[in-house]
Amino acid sequence: MESFKYNPQSSVADEFICHDEILASLQFAEAHKNDEALLAQILAKAKEEKGLSHREALVLLASDNAATNQQIEALAKKIKLDFYGNRIVLFAPLYLSNYCVNGCTYCPYHAINKHMPRKKMTQDEIKEEVIALQDMGHKRLALELGEHPTMNPLEYVLESIDTIYNIKHKNGAIRRVNVNIAATDEASFAKLKDAGIGTYILFQETYNRQRYEALHPTGPKHDYNRQTEAMDRAMRGGIDDVGIGVLFGLSTYLYEFTALLMHVEHLKAVFGVGPHTISVPRLRPADGINPEQFADCISDDIFVKIVACLRIAVPTAGMIISTRESKETRERVLQLGISQISGGSKTSVGGYSQAHAENSDSAQFDVCDNRTLDEVVYWLLGNGHIPSFCTACYRKHRTGEAFMKLCANKSIHHFCHPNALLSLQEYLTDYASPATKALGEKVIAAEVAKLPPQSAKFVLQHLQDIKNGNDRDFYL
Ligand code: SF4
Ligand code: SF4
Repeated sequence: MESFKYNPQSSVADEFICHDEILASLQFAEAHKNDEALLAQILAKAKEEKGLSHREALVLLASDNAATNQQIEALAKKIKLDFYGNRIVLFAPLYLSNYCVNGCTYCPYHAINKHMPRKKMTQDEIKEEVIALQDMGHKRLALELGEHPTMNPLEYVLESIDTIYNIKHKNGAIRRVNVNIAATDEASFAKLKDAGIGTYILFQETYNRQRYEALHPTGPKHDYNRQTEAMDRAMRGGIDDVGIGVLFGLSTYLYEFTALLMHVEHLKAVFGVGPHTISVPRLRPADGINPEQFADCISDDIFVKIVACLRIAVPTAGMIISTRESKETRERVLQLGISQISGGSKTSVGGYSQAHAENSDSAQFDVCDNRTLDEVVYWLLGNGHIPSFCTACYRKHRTGEAFMKLCANKSIHHFCHPNALLSLQEYLTDYASPATKALGEKVIAAEVAKLPPQSAKFVLQHLQDIKNGNDRDFYL
C-alpha cells in the first residue's frame, strides 16, 4: 500500500484519513493504554471540554483501566449535560426508494439481491407516508434512498423534498428534512441546499480502504475517494451542516474510531467547523445479512464506551442513534452523549401508511426498538429527558459556523430549552396519549420554573397559545 503523510488540511482522502497515521496511533494507544500519567493528562485536557485529538481519544478508548473508565463515563455525562442538557431531539427516517445499483455486502438493498421487493414511492404515496408521520407527531425527517441514476435521480429527491415541505395536514408539518443520499457532486449538493435541506448525512461505512473496497465490490460506491471526500464537496456546494458516521462492525472499532476523529479534524481544518452530527450505527440483521458473518461486530459495552469517548472528543457534535439499538442500550447511551434518536421508525419503503404496510419485507434492517413514538416519548419523560421536536436553528439560519460558536460557548441552551418545551407541548396537545400528556405537562411545568424570567415569560405565553389551539410553531 502506498504511504501517505497525515495532513488534515489536504483534500486528498488518503492524506486526511491517513492509514499510516491510524496504524501509528493504534500502536501508540496499545503501548500507553495503561500509562496512568498520560491517562491523567488526557483526562485533565478533556475536562476543559474543548475536545481531544484522535490519538488522545484513542488512548482513552483503548484503556482497560477501571478508574479511567469510570472517569470517562462521568465526564461524558457532564459534557452531555453542559452542551445538550437533558433534551433529546426526535426524528424519523423516511425511505423513498430501495432501488440501488451498488453492491454493499452488508445491506439487503444491494443490486444482486433479486428477492428483495423493490419499491419507489410516487409523490402521492409520499404524501400518504408524510401524513402518517405527521399524525404520529413527527416534525423532522431523514430521507433515505438507494443510489440509482435512473430510478432515484436528484430531480426525484428534490421533487420529494418539495412535496414533503408543502404537506399541511391538521396541525402537522415537517419542518426539517435531512437527507441521506449517495455521495454526489458539488453542483448537486448546491441544489439540495437550495431545496432547503437541514443536514446532509453520509456514513463512511468503513474508513479502512482495503475493507471498504472489498465490502463494496460493485457500483459507483466502490470508489473510496468519492465516498471519503464527499463532505468536502457538500460543504463547497454550500451545505454547512454535515453528518458523518461509520457502520461499526465492518472493520475493527479502534481503527474506525480513530479515522472518524481524523475526519472531524479535517473538516475543522478546512472549513472551520466540524460535523453537525456523528451517527453510531452498528451492523444489524436484515434479509440475507447475518452480522455474525462480520468478525468485527462490537459488544454493548464497547459500543457504550465508544459513545462516551466520542462525546468527550467532540463536545460540539450532536450524536445520533437509531432504532437499530434496543431500549436497554439506548437507555445507557442517552446519558453519555446521544442527543438525537429516531422513534416509531419503519425501515421499509412505504412502511408508515396503512396502504403500504405489506412492504415491511423491504426493510433495510431489522428494527430492534419497536415502540411507538408515544411510548418513546413517555419513556424519555420518565427517565428525566425532555423529548424535543425542535427544528429552529436551520430556520433561523443558525447553521454551520454560527451554530458551532453558540454550541462551543454553551449558549445554545438559551434557544434549545424553550424550544424543546414548546415543541413538546405541541406534541402533547395534538398527538399524545392521556398518560404521556399528563406526564409531559408535569415535566414542562417543572422545567419552566428553572428558566430565566424572560424565557419563562415567552414559553408560558406560547404554551397557553398552543393549549388554546390559537397557533403552533413558536420558537426562538
Ligand atoms: Fe445501496 Fe446504500 Fe444499501 Fe449500499 S447501503 S446497497 S448504497 S442502499
Ligand atoms: Fe437543535 Fe437548534 Fe432546536 Fe437546539 S434550538 S434543538 S440546536 S434546532
